[in-house]
Amino acid sequence: MRVCDVYIEETFLQNQTLTYLCQDFDVAFGNRVWVNVRGRRMMAFVKSVYEASLDAFEFELQPILSVVDDTAIINQELFEIAEFMSYQTVTPLIRCLQTVLPNKLRPQTNATKPKMTRGIQYIGGADEDTLTKKQREFVERYKEYEFVTLKEARAFYSGYRSLIDKGIFKEVEKEASYQEADIEEAYPRHSLTQVQRKVFESVSFDSAHTYLLHGVTGSGKTELYLQWAEYVLKQNKSVLFLVPEISLTPQMIERVSKRFGKDVGIYHSSLNDQEKYEQYLRVKKGETQIVVGTRSAIFMPFSNLGLIVMDEEHDHSYKQSNMPMYATHDIAHLRSEYHHCPLILGSASPRLESYARALRGNYTLLELPQRINETFPKVNVVDTKEALYQQESGLMTHDLLTAIESRLKRREQVILVLNRRGYMTLLKDAVTQEVLMCPNCDISLNYHKHDNTLKCHQCDYQTKEIPRGSDNQPLKVVGSGVGTQRLQEYLEHRFPNAKVGRMDRDTTTRKNAHEKILTAFRNHEYDILVGTQMIAKGLDIPNVTLVGILNIDTALGHEDFRSVEDTFNLILQASGRSGRGEKQGEVIVQTFNVNHYAIQYAVHNQYKSFFKQEMQYRKLAQYPPYSYLISIVFSDENESNTYRKSQEFLKYFNDENIKVLGPSFILRLRGFHRVRIILKGKNLDEMLRQVHSAYDKIDKGGIRIDVNPMTLM
Ligand SMILES: [Zn+2]
Repeated sequence: MRVCDVYIEETFLQNQTLTYLCQDFDVAFGNRVWVNVRGRRMMAFVKSVYEASLDAFEFELQPILSVVDDTAIINQELFEIAEFMSYQTVTPLIRCLQTVLPNKLRPQTNATKPKMTRGIQYIGGADEDTLTKKQREFVERYKEYEFVTLKEARAFYSGYRSLIDKGIFKEVEKEASYQEADIEEAYPRHSLTQVQRKVFESVSFDSAHTYLLHGVTGSGKTELYLQWAEYVLKQNKSVLFLVPEISLTPQMIERVSKRFGKDVGIYHSSLNDQEKYEQYLRVKKGETQIVVGTRSAIFMPFSNLGLIVMDEEHDHSYKQSNMPMYATHDIAHLRSEYHHCPLILGSASPRLESYARALRGNYTLLELPQRINETFPKVNVVDTKEALYQQESGLMTHDLLTAIESRLKRREQVILVLNRRGYMTLLKDAVTQEVLMCPNCDISLNYHKHDNTLKCHQCDYQTKEIPRGSDNQPLKVVGSGVGTQRLQEYLEHRFPNAKVGRMDRDTTTRKNAHEKILTAFRNHEYDILVGTQMIAKGLDIPNVTLVGILNIDTALGHEDFRSVEDTFNLILQASGRSGRGEKQGEVIVQTFNVNHYAIQYAVHNQYKSFFKQEMQYRKLAQYPPYSYLISIVFSDENESNTYRKSQEFLKYFNDENIKVLGPSFILRLRGFHRVRIILKGKNLDEMLRQVHSAYDKIDKGGIRIDVNPMTLM
């Protein structure tokens, strides 16, 4: 009998398959099928089909119920990637398949079907004599068409249905497909400088190899990407451009689209399921050879990839933050190997891991040390302590206020980065001095003025009610701390003639909100743009000549092995937004830690010195890139259960080459107590093998495994 092994979305199964009869069905690897699992109808993914004797099974096999797809939804390469991810991230394969495929194709019981367009098609048999003049015209016009939408048919002849009744046309359905948009303006091609030309020629396109393009902000990395892409497209191969969170870098899409015209595929998180599916099909059918997208675009079904570019490769968004917690870098390496094509990682401040690999010769280092306009912004570090002592405001020092004033006079624009949203960031009971906390998390509440609510920034908790004290009366609350809302209000008050925009998570919840705010800023509808770190990335607006970074110290204070690196990146990236045009730019960093090396090296644009010093600390503490980390978090609503789970895991864990840190309780989130173990070792393969072996033996609920975590917060 013919049988098939299928994967089903059930965590208890992990990577085990179930077997079904498929004698009466046309089914093959990569199809989705409906099956019955313990009385429930579920969608499954076919792993293999083969002949087997029914005696080989100890139980009676059930037949599959029906087949969903007539072709494989995944190719061999992407299936292998899913298998790799499953092992590497300790996640069931079915979950990885769901990540690799767009929602509409996911082997998932609640997956929705692709949208269909209804239309008609000529089937012949028209007897001219029986037709009216209009009907004859209709037949004449549309008989060569493979597909005429109902809308078009109706517009030409409202009585078109009579031709279906006569059996001359039939009604058909086909998948809705992407409508190409017209792009009129072209993004001009710049000729390369001598330095750029040298870098351009260093890349070889006929083998799998990784290049790290370390170029200061404004050094012309994008132009190089575009010219490499142009070269690859001429060879009739495809190009994949990855950017961090796309809404923050609409320019990249704009530039690529304008350079290469309307064929560019776009793939990012704010597309809806149908839009993603249409883009996916375009790549699969070879209708587009160039895709610009975020993390998940790494799974596009290219058949002939010639180049992968990862811009701003240091950005945390390249690591997925829920399961499977995969690193885009790893997948990009696999695809580069499979397609024998180069992978180019670009950044002004590469991840220490990437730069270390380049120094060791695993990657080829390409450098662009100069800005195209040859001037770096003037950087001024202002001591907030000093300012407070002089009785200025600690929020905005005199230096920063004067600098803003002069920009406003000259009709130039200003960016202010404050990495805290909300209005007041700390609230206390005036009597007891107790901080108001989220009831579900060990996190303090923030006050948001525009909707007059108290919010937790970790979970969805919010309330308009002031908490009550033991006397059942509303507490007298005093607030402190400045978030972006309060900064905006302060600026509007201080500079009544200036228009102040704000970009943070609260103003960007709606689709395309990022783009609207940035376009308004680019068109100078705002003089000042206030925002969290999201405005520090990738913006290129020539009229911005001042960038102010407020309160950089909070980031430095985080007890995470990467927080110094992140602070360095934030300053470097934010200062890169200033003075990109003809005018001289200025950057003002307000800090209590004027002499901190991350701040000093960032303002002087000394990546290499920063790298050297930070690597010494990493070496001392044996943090990446000197070791590998795996973070395992156990969570449960019950505190002692949480701890017990971690103990159970550790019971199976005994390898003297792997250091175990913890278990230790970390912040409670969303009502769940959490305990974390960190594994540290030099051999990632061995660490993974041990984790799998322990994980296989225990109850898997409430466990989150993060291999090579970007943060331990
Ligand atoms: Zn909360």
